[in-house]
Amino acid sequence: QVKTRGRNGVERFKQTLASAADQRIALSRRLRDAVEHHAFELAYQPQVDVRSHRVSGVEALIRWRDPEFGSVSPATFIPIAEENGMIGPMGEWVLRTACAQARQWERDLPGMRMSVNVSPRQLARPDFADTVRRALASSELAPNLLELEITEGALVAPGALPTLRALGEIGVSIAIDDFGTGYSSLSYLRTFHADRLKIDMSFVRGIGASRADEAIIRAILALARSLGFQIVAEGVERGDQLAFLTQYGCPVVQGFLFSAALPAEQIPRCVANLSKLSLEHARHSNKTAA
Ligand code: C2E
Ligand code: MG
Ligand code: MG
Ligand code: MG
Repeated sequence: QVKTRGRNGVERFKQTLASAADQRIALSRRLRDAVEHHAFELAYQPQVDVRSHRVSGVEALIRWRDPEFGSVSPATFIPIAEENGMIGPMGEWVLRTACAQARQWERDLPGMRMSVNVSPRQLARPDFADTVRRALASSELAPNLLELEITEGALVAPGALPTLRALGEIGVSIAIDDFGTGYSSLSYLRTFHADRLKIDMSFVRGIGASRADEAIIRAILALARSLGFQIVAEGVERGDQLAFLTQYGCPVVQGFLFSAALPAEQIPRCVANLSKLSLEHARHSNKTAA
């Protein structure tokens, strides 16, 4: 084992670096192409009310399948898009597509909210509020049905405040994504008017295994209650996680337990199935109660 740390190891290390850099450059080029040709899709993940199983909203998640690279995760290509300047047009496409889709669902799935992720660079653009305004205008979506998911770091970045004020005037909601994983002090919660906190899935993963994670979740729920934030927990995969979150008063969850992100055309059926599930559950508990 120690031997591989010799010159061979260094050579191999250099090769890996070179190929990783090359791959990034290649990806960056393909990404420009994809942005130009709108070669993305949006998948939508339900946010489920724990009591009624009503789907109160969906989160739009971008998907990219490149003919050469195959499916590339947004965790990989969003940072590249932020670097090469493609995040602007890409983000605008996401907003427009999500708003148009939400508008289409407004009749059959009334009140279902659309959450859209906004990356730090996107929020930092001085024209961002205008982009949001235009997407709402052209889709004719009610602003209160749009929620923007922003991470703590992006919220507190210099220059974000006027944009957030403008977004507030437009009437869209703001959710703090990955809440609890940033490095910001809690005092920013006073300055920035967020509507909702999203409990990061790294904490949810610790339910049943880490007393610290469980304590942090309870603290976030208490904080949200006393400061008047709405709340959603993300990355809920198991029944025991749902039970814990329900026990401590988390009203809405999102995660593979209920559904992964789905293509738009599968959402109405998923919504119907989830509410059927809760009807059966209610009937069952009525029977056992009688
Ligand atoms: P995020 O906004 O925190 O999204 C949650 C991620 O967790 C999504 O991954 C989702 O598919 C995944 N997820 C949901 N439920 C579960 C679960 O129960 N278990 C596990 N293990 N994972 C779950 P995805 O779609 O790969 O997105 C990754 C990140 O990329 C997102 O994190 C977000 O930061 C970014 N992203 C995705 N779409 C967009 C977009 O349209 N615009 C921007 N700016 N960023 C996006
Ligand atoms: Mg998100
Ligand atoms: Mg998140
Ligand atoms: Mg995340």
